[in-house]
Amino acid sequence: MVESDTSKLPKEELANLKNYASGLLKTVREPLLVLTVNQNVVAYNANFEKKFKISEKEEGVSVFNFNQKQLDTAEFREILKELQNGEKSISDRIVALHFSENTKKKFSVNASLLSLPATNPLILINFKRLKSIGRLSRQEKVFNRIVDNILSNAPAAICILRGPEHTFEVANENYLKLIGNRNIIGKTVKEALPEVGNQGFIDLLDTVYSTGEPYIGNELAINLQDKKGEFKNSFLNFVYEPTRNKKGKIDGVFVHAIDVTEQVLARKKIEENEDRLKEVIDAVPAIIWITNDQGESTFLNKNWYSYTGQKVEAAKVFGWLETIHPEDYDGAKTSFLEAQKERKPYSSTFRLQSAKGDYRWVMDKGSPRFDANGEYEGMIGTVIDVHDEKIKENLVREKEHRMQGIVKEATVATAIYTGIDMNIELANDAMLKLWGKDTSVIGKRLAQALPELDGQPFLELLRNVYRTGETYWGKEDKVDLLIDGEMQTGFYNFTYKPLRDKNGEIYGILNMAIDVTESVKSKMLLKESEFHFRQMADLMPGMVSKTDARGNDIYFNKNWLDFTGQASENLKKIGWVEFIHPDEKQTYLEAWENCLDTGCDLEMQLRLKNKEGKYIWHLSRCEAVKEDDGSIKMWIAANTEIDKIKEEEKRKEEFLKMVSHELKTPVTSIKGYVQLLLSLLKKQGEAEASNLPLKPSLERINHQVSRLTRLISEILDLSRIRENQLELKKEEFNLNELVAETIQDINYTNTQHKIDLESEVQAMVVADRDRIGQVIINLIINAIKYSPGSLNINVKIVKKASDKIKVIIKDYGIGISTENHKKIFKRFYRVGVKSEETYSGFGIGLYLANEIMERHNGEIEVKSKLGEGSEFSFILDAAQITS
Ligand code: ADP
Repeated sequence: MVESDTSKLPKEELANLKNYASGLLKTVREPLLVLTVNQNVVAYNANFEKKFKISEKEEGVSVFNFNQKQLDTAEFREILKELQNGEKSISDRIVALHFSENTKKKFSVNASLLSLPATNPLILINFKRLKSIGRLSRQEKVFNRIVDNILSNAPAAICILRGPEHTFEVANENYLKLIGNRNIIGKTVKEALPEVGNQGFIDLLDTVYSTGEPYIGNELAINLQDKKGEFKNSFLNFVYEPTRNKKGKIDGVFVHAIDVTEQVLARKKIEENEDRLKEVIDAVPAIIWITNDQGESTFLNKNWYSYTGQKVEAAKVFGWLETIHPEDYDGAKTSFLEAQKERKPYSSTFRLQSAKGDYRWVMDKGSPRFDANGEYEGMIGTVIDVHDEKIKENLVREKEHRMQGIVKEATVATAIYTGIDMNIELANDAMLKLWGKDTSVIGKRLAQALPELDGQPFLELLRNVYRTGETYWGKEDKVDLLIDGEMQTGFYNFTYKPLRDKNGEIYGILNMAIDVTESVKSKMLLKESEFHFRQMADLMPGMVSKTDARGNDIYFNKNWLDFTGQASENLKKIGWVEFIHPDEKQTYLEAWENCLDTGCDLEMQLRLKNKEGKYIWHLSRCEAVKEDDGSIKMWIAANTEIDKIKEEEKRKEEFLKMVSHELKTPVTSIKGYVQLLLSLLKKQGEAEASNLPLKPSLERINHQVSRLTRLISEILDLSRIRENQLELKKEEFNLNELVAETIQDINYTNTQHKIDLESEVQAMVVADRDRIGQVIINLIINAIKYSPGSLNINVKIVKKASDKIKVIIKDYGIGISTENHKKIFKRFYRVGVKSEETYSGFGIGLYLANEIMERHNGEIEVKSKLGEGSEFSFILDAAQITS
């Protein structure tokens, strides 16, 4: 080194500085330049001289003038400026420096301000050729670090230990701080820092000293006493580097230590936190997993292992996939790897084998993780058991599927619409048929599929159901549909029922419909015919009413209302029975009750009270209207006024009664005289009078008078019956004898017919002999009268029961049609109009016979067919029957 010609730097000081610098320069192998704070060159080492090709030794000059202004570049000036402005150190700054006119070389520069105790501070600048960075040997690295640290005056603790006893020779401020500012210079480590004696450090120093091998310690824990004598744990990164004397013999150890306590503690804290986080993750009642940027599993919490029963080793990397059901394996793997590749959220549902060996449905979800710089780090995710939900969902889906099948097959027209737009989600065959459409409408909007609904209320009704959630029931609603290109009107019973999802939200409408067109149309027809019926009923002269099957009044025609002066509703309430005269009411009610039970017709004469309170005679007839199966549908009753007829009848009867009374006396006396004459004629001898037909004439008169007498007494009986004055004179007599006598009497006058009598038994009866005789005469005379073409008449007396005797009168005449069997026993009833001309009579004979039988507790009946003759018979209680 040569003294520089600088005037600014006093010699003494330069020498001083050089002294310091030389110490540093010796140990440093990298190019190193030492400047004053005023940027004058103090010294440089041999390597610098070599690298920067110093031709002429220059010291003490301004650095910018040094070696042909080689260092006068903007970047270098900037470094020095920063140091002058108070920066303590600058590291790894890239600068380009001049080497020849056109050549610049790049260096990494580390510079630092070194404050010295006895003199002005120094600037140390170390140059590294850029290309050599990274190719340094380990030793060089260590060395560089030492130098760097010296240069940067970094927070490193540095000291130099001399000799095999490791006596402190130099220690920087940081070192002193580290050991609690104890007075250590000149003392051995053992003396100065007794507490480290048993911490292994002295052994390390011994090894470095003896072997010459540097020692690098990372994050070594050291327990040091501080100023107050308290022990404190620190972590140090440090280097023990042997120093050598000129002869190359080891004479000390350079110690460079950095206190990394804070970092270590911070990291430990992070590690601790991480551990705690893992504990938390383990405690979460879900499976949590973490993968790295390659998609490999790096963490699975405890739940995974307990759920799957997998071993930690087995689950690593992609081992977790092995627990997936073989059928779901590919799908799950593909979706995971895709998400991993795209770094997007991932979700997959699959079956996972549980520790028990069964497979359960789980939902696996993951999210990508990125670090602060946006670098992809992998994924974090959870696995949740959704087995029960999934099974339920499957069931619901299956049910839905099955339901759809059922709906499809159903005969009831069914459709499902979804959304407020009424999209046809489903329509079964029956519904398609009802619409007159095919499957192409499915998926369309209802309004689009059935445009003819426009202008009809249904779309609005559906939207309303969708909005309000209230089911709509259509009853016999009229719908016009375009079927086979033609608008057709139909009537339907249908429902619009809202469909709700599991949250209760309406998502669609179920439409079920039944075609009731036929029934509506027939009802309309019925209404029409009902209307006609009413019209007709109102026009009818009689009073017509209708009841339901059970006899409740449901209709009265206008005449009824006029007659009673009541409104229809009132009349229904009161019931027309209330208008019947009390004398007939009970009889009527009994008969009506019987009709309701048996369904038979009813006919009765009764009086009905009109609005003036007057009773008017009516013929009341009531007939059941029956269904096809014979059950009663309703009753129709007609009441015809017969008051006038009744009046006339009464007058006729009274007249007849009067006439009969008047005739009775003269006829009886005529009969007496005729019989007298006949007996006189007998006495005088028939021969005398033989030329005159006196006898036959008188007999004829006698016969006619008998007839007249019978007729008169019958007419009188008639009025007696009406007035309830027919009295019976009962006596015991032989019925066989009475029958025989009667036949004999008739035979006198009826010579044409042959009347047989066959008596199977003999019977004594207790009865009115004359009246029973009257019955027998009537029946035999009718048999004669109504069988002009056949002359045989059989009379038979038979035993009916142990105490009943039956008399049968059989003819082979014109017979009686069945419909007249009952009617002939009524007063004045005669079959046919023509017969009146052919057969004389009043129509009272059978009526009287019936009345007489009733009063004897007997029975009278007829068996006959038109054209086949008749068989009349009566039965009486017998007092005695002998054979
Ligand atoms: P009448 O003989 O005076 O007409 P009845 O009361 O004796 O009155 O008979 C009522 C009706 O019954 C008769 O008009 C007749 O049509 C019918 N009738 C009665 N007996 C016979 C019979 N044996 N054969 C046919 N018709 C008969």
